[in-house]
Amino acid sequence: MDAVELDGQKIAIQNIFCIGRNYDEHIKELNNARPSEPMVFLKPSSAILLEDQAIVLPAYSQNVHYECEVVVLIKEDMNHVAEEDALDYVAGFGIGLDLTARDVQDEAKAKGLPWLKCKGFRGAACVSNFIARDLVSDVNGLTFSLSINDEIKQLGRTEHMIYPVASLLSHLSKVYGLRKGDLVYTGTPAGVGELHAGDHLALDLHGQVRAKFKVAA
Ligand code: MG
Repeated sequence: MDAVELDGQKIAIQNIFCIGRNYDEHIKELNNARPSEPMVFLKPSSAILLEDQAIVLPAYSQNVHYECEVVVLIKEDMNHVAEEDALDYVAGFGIGLDLTARDVQDEAKAKGLPWLKCKGFRGAACVSNFIARDLVSDVNGLTFSLSINDEIKQLGRTEHMIYPVASLLSHLSKVYGLRKGDLVYTGTPAGVGELHAGDHLALDLHGQVRAKFKVAA
């Protein structure tokens, strides 16, 4: 079982929930519809890729996209938690990549098929270590970024989320329930694009968490 670090403590990762279409500018760039409730999908825990491990692009895709996202680590089980209490269940915040085989996803969308193959391949859930929730003063005021080969590709602000973190966690706690050690990928802002062999990726969450990944050559 993979584990992430929070304050020097290892926490085993359980379920990996991901939110799609949570930023308007990203919805526009992919010509998607704005959801009327949080759009949720899962990745298997075998998709986790920790810092400094190489991203291996799946051979069945010719177009793997990066999606830089704020990631929430759940501290204790959540069942039917109200939005105003939801942040009390957060252990910490990190930054990650929801890697997506876009060509495979386009085909899945057209045929109405599940997203597992385009979103759940080995290494498709890259994630940093975590900063404790107490050290984050304003969850809805965070900035985050992704640079590739020293060029900024994505710049996000959590204030632009359609469904803010507390609202997402409350929703997930009501429909599915959340468990200690679950991760929630909160959606990507605009600027997604293709990864290439040998790319160097640098992720930053509000100057407080940083992570680096490399695409295998
Ligand atoms: Mg995403």
